[in-house]
Amino acid sequence: NKELIRIIITGSNKGIGLGIVQNLSNKPYHIIMACRSIERANEARQKIISSNPNSKIDTLELDVDSTDSIDKFVQNIHSQYGQIDILLNNSGMAFKGDEFGTDVIEQTFRTNFYGTIDLTEKLLPYIKENGKVIFIGSSLGKYYLVKGNQTIQGQLQNPNLTKDKLFGVAKQFYDDVKDNTYESKGWAKSAYGISKLCINHYASVLSRYESIIQKNIQVYSCCPGWVRTDLGGKNAHRSIEEGVICPIYLVELPFQVNPQFQGKFFYDSVISS
Ligand code: NDP
Repeated sequence: NKELIRIIITGSNKGIGLGIVQNLSNKPYHIIMACRSIERANEARQKIISSNPNSKIDTLELDVDSTDSIDKFVQNIHSQYGQIDILLNNSGMAFKGDEFGTDVIEQTFRTNFYGTIDLTEKLLPYIKENGKVIFIGSSLGKYYLVKGNQTIQGQLQNPNLTKDKLFGVAKQFYDDVKDNTYESKGWAKSAYGISKLCINHYASVLSRYESIIQKNIQVYSCCPGWVRTDLGGKNAHRSIEEGVICPIYLVELPFQVNPQFQGKFFYDSVISS
């Protein structure tokens, strides 16, 4: 099994994550499905294994909302596998309907932003040289660029954006919703959209980390398009098979940093600004 590429895929018991597992299960990958329900993960794994008995797929419990769970997961990765080649951050959530407020922002950002970043940074020591970190962001994030707020927009688009500045933007959004001044300050009314905007930009921040540069780790974010899943809903334009194309393209890029691609956001397998 030495030559298998070891990949962690978070939130892969259903939807796009499971579609990616399915796609890679026929290829030389050792897949670790990182899911908050080990039962749902094992059920999903069993279905793939029964149609494809030669695939190498493990399941491991991970709830990105919980620091304890992240710490246990990272410890398990370290003790059971040592090193991994690719981390694919796919898990994500969105509130349905119009619900909006600080509670919604807290929960959405915990999963889509803070938890995802915490996991990524704790796993960095266990990602091999020339490995990859991929985020499933969203092009929705682009539409939620705070058009009315030039300061925030300028901070996000600054090529030297830092983690502190990015976390400052996320906190500013929360504070402006708390004070009910978000509309006058030009924020869109979407916790999901802004959380995805922030994680898209985190990819570029991460790509400039010293440890990432030293280890030649590739970093990307991408959008699968609007996909028919529990999150995307049944009216979405794309099937899961179509939605996995861009993430799979990034997974399969050669293991060599391309400076033009590094830290960039991809849509339909091309860089999208
Ligand atoms: P689904 O709702 O079908 O799947 C989401 C997955 O994330 C599930 O496996 C879910 O687990 C998991 N998850 C949610 N919260 C956590 C958590 N705290 N810890 C661990 N896993 C968690 O959604 P999609 O497949 O559509 O979404 C996958 C990714 O693609 C998300 O990041 C989403 O934002 C993004 N995306 C989706 C689009 C679409 O149109 N569908 C468009 C653009 C981006 P569980 O089963 O336990 O809930």
